[in-house]
Amino acid sequence: MKINILTLFPKMFEGFITESIIARAIKAKLVEINIIDIRNFCLDKHKQADDIPFGGGSGMVIKIEPIFRALETVGGKVIYTSPQGRKLNQELVKELLLNEELTIIAGHYEGIDERVIENKVDMEISIGDFVLTGGELAAMVISDAIIRLVPNVIKKESYENDSFFNSLLDYPHYTRPAEYRGLKVPEILLSGHHKKINEWRLKESLKRTYLRRKDLLEKREFTKLEKRLLEEIKIELLKGKENEK
Ligand code: SAM
Repeated sequence: MKINILTLFPKMFEGFITESIIARAIKAKLVEINIIDIRNFCLDKHKQADDIPFGGGSGMVIKIEPIFRALETVGGKVIYTSPQGRKLNQELVKELLLNEELTIIAGHYEGIDERVIENKVDMEISIGDFVLTGGELAAMVISDAIIRLVPNVIKKESYENDSFFNSLLDYPHYTRPAEYRGLKVPEILLSGHHKKINEWRLKESLKRTYLRRKDLLEKREFTKLEKRLLEEIKIELLKGKENEK
């Protein structure tokens, strides 16, 4: 998979592409990330990529010409990072994964000239209902979420248990030591009984989702085991409440 990112601030991506899982994925040629400096497509002497807005007002707007020219050098679906776009979630991430090449435009200042969005952008994506200073972090968030689902970047069972993959939140994780300052790891995890451990994890996932994100459960079909566990959870929670009285 190839992801092109158009930005005025390419240095912001240095850590992103040289650290951890993303760096390994690039090295293993599982993904290619192409950071493109919009300024390189400015033809004037001062390489001015932004200008004051027509009609007045504060802030600068990234100009149409360098973005149009930069887009002529890349392919794939064109995404613009924008607080006004479709909100990113795991479903959209899986949809984006189906593309062999993607191009993400990171806005900055007041944003980019609207004519780019109207004529060149296939999809606007927001990473949440808040406003960032620029789309660079959003471009990294989008790319990161996609790349970890690219085959062989991480183990399949690892992302299949992650929150949202199966409309469930992830179960809690623990590592050594088994006891620290009196704080113990749930005994079942030390039992070596894999079937019971898997059931405990599934139940914890269901419980967390039930308590924190009931909306995710609404879209979901349950197995027989899940239905039983969910009933147990509800009874346990009711009992807990009664004991509090
Ligand atoms: N004036 C714009 C508006 O209110 O819609 C916001 C501009 S913002 C200061 C600068 C840039 O950051 C935007 O052009 C966009 O690329 C990016 N950005 C800000 N918030 C974002 C969000 N929630 N999701 C994705 N990108 C965002």
